[in-house]
Amino acid sequence: MPVRHPRSLPLRPQRPVASGALRLGRTLRGMHRRDTAGATSTAPARLKPSTAETDASALRLSLVTAALTHLSQGVSVFDSDDRLVVMNPRCVALWGLPIRLARPGTPLADVLQHQRDAKRIALPVTGSETDAPAGARRELWQHTEGTVIEVDISRLPTGARVALHRDITAQWQAEQRLAHLACHDVLTNLYNRSALETEVATHLSNAPAGSEQALLTLDLDRFKYVNDTLGHGAGDRLLTQVAERLRDCVRDSDVVVRMGGDEFAILQCNAPQPLGATSLARRLIDTLCAPFHLDGHPVVIGASVGVAIAPWDGETAEVLLQHADLALYRAKAEGGNQLRFFEPHMDTGQQQRLLLEADLRGALERGEFELAYQLQVAVPGPVYTGAEALIRWNHPTRGRVSPVDFIPLAEETGLIVAIGRWVLLQACRDAAAWPSSMRVSVNASPLQFKSRTLVQDVFDALRDTGLAADRLVLEITETVLMHDTAHSLSLLNTLRERGVRIAMDDFGTGYSSLGYLRRFPFDKIKIDRSFVRDIENSPDAQAIVRAVTGLGRSLGMATIVEGVETAAQLAAVCAEGCDEVQGFLFSVPSPVEQILPLLKRGRSLPICGGLSAACTGCVGQAPMAEARAA
Ligand code: C2E
Ligand code: CA
Ligand code: CA
Repeated sequence: MPVRHPRSLPLRPQRPVASGALRLGRTLRGMHRRDTAGATSTAPARLKPSTAETDASALRLSLVTAALTHLSQGVSVFDSDDRLVVMNPRCVALWGLPIRLARPGTPLADVLQHQRDAKRIALPVTGSETDAPAGARRELWQHTEGTVIEVDISRLPTGARVALHRDITAQWQAEQRLAHLACHDVLTNLYNRSALETEVATHLSNAPAGSEQALLTLDLDRFKYVNDTLGHGAGDRLLTQVAERLRDCVRDSDVVVRMGGDEFAILQCNAPQPLGATSLARRLIDTLCAPFHLDGHPVVIGASVGVAIAPWDGETAEVLLQHADLALYRAKAEGGNQLRFFEPHMDTGQQQRLLLEADLRGALERGEFELAYQLQVAVPGPVYTGAEALIRWNHPTRGRVSPVDFIPLAEETGLIVAIGRWVLLQACRDAAAWPSSMRVSVNASPLQFKSRTLVQDVFDALRDTGLAADRLVLEITETVLMHDTAHSLSLLNTLRERGVRIAMDDFGTGYSSLGYLRRFPFDKIKIDRSFVRDIENSPDAQAIVRAVTGLGRSLGMATIVEGVETAAQLAAVCAEGCDEVQGFLFSVPSPVEQILPLLKRGRSLPICGGLSAACTGCVGQAPMAEARAA
């Protein structure tokens, strides 16, 4: 904006512009009439002033003029006929007015026309700019090059309008930045979570009748892995690139939000549904599956998308988000890199899961877990070799929750690491009081291997309880070896070197079980109970049990069959040559106090009813009842 020198300004100090602040409007009006008429002297309706009076007026005038000239604010006065009375140099400079428009008598309309020609924009008055002085009206104007001028306009009782003009560019920009920060994510410059609610509310209320809006929530697959392995800097750069790709996938009318972490949301407005969301989600998944480049390394992630459609799946941001998240959760649970639409049945299942998760979080501290033990028996003995520790959760209102229901949740939430540590310590503590020939078997989750604290947790438990390492058997499933095999094998070897025994659990239920048996010298193979169920009548099941016991023997691994419920099943598995059994026939999982006397006795009552070829004289009693009664 061209800044004019004060001397070029239209103020004429030699003229009496005002005889006092209170009379300003009327006096100035008189003066302006002189100006427009080209007259040079008298003010109307006034007695001729004395010389002393004239001197005093001249003095006051020069003081007022000097004050106006040096004021850092712009000042302009228009009379009640909207003609300029006075404008100080700062005001002329602020607006870059040509000198002809700063002359007394200039119509306000001419000044406004100049503003329009210069393409100045009236800004909405928001933020701290709303605090205009009492009685004043505030306007904000922005010049094309960005300067923002604040104008406070007051009307005097005479009808004159006095305006104060200030350059508030710095303050305005600071407020704009703050306002931007309040609703944008700093890293990606996308909208943030709190902006989503406002955006959804605005779009839903302005949506044409009958239109549909889709809310897509999106979660990156494997982002955590990148963050953990390449560092947070790389994680941040990846998120920035993700944000760019998301922007490229949407239309201008859509709203892209970073919800936090690696979660994003997109509000797709006024597209035909579910077609619009389906094709957008496909574009999103495709673009995010393409490799990213971080510090020269190609990095492959992926994304899952959940969709809820307004108004059918909800009419507020909160409900839509909740429903889109349920669908997203389902998409992730089904393996990731896919799209799921919300369906009403997802709601109840997920809500129950969330409640269960909340309860599970505090269960350890509240001491709600306990261990039950199920006997393991060498056959044809039958001689007890030890017991498997099986966790039980006693919830004050839910009652006893099955591990089948809460272990997967504990794994998903990472709570399994602390829970598993507790199981190890408690099982070793209990077993330390058993006869020294008895071993305790503890289930270890693949997640405990992943968390990398497992070896330390095992060593701590053995040290703290004094249990000999070779009395602890860790039961693992082949899932442990499926991911990060080299790392898992090295952990298993460390445990083995220390003397801890390792059993392969649930054998026969996985994909390439035989292959895994050759990769690690397991001490024991636990044949899954699904093979025992039909063993009496199924030649296939018999053949499998026979093959595994044979393989175990050739690899130097003992075999134990789980789920033996009847004497007939026992006879059948004994006939196939397995070394040990476990199942309801011998004991249901029971509190340690009930198991301990049996372990001390060391031998089970004979139970196979003479059905086994290897039987040494069973009488068909039910040790399960014995275990219960003990
Ligand atoms: P699993 O390790 O295969 O444990 C054997 C399961 O079979 C136990 O169920 C046991 O009660 C049940 N069972 C034993 N004998 C019989 C039988 O004769 N017939 C039938 N039908 N079932 C029998 P439970 O205690 O409900 O445990 C289920 C699963 O929960 C376990 O399967 C294991 O995968 C997991 N689990 C239990 N405790 C723990 C733990 O402390 N840590 C971890 N990570 N997982 C655990
Ligand atoms: Ca087990
Ligand atoms: Ca098992």
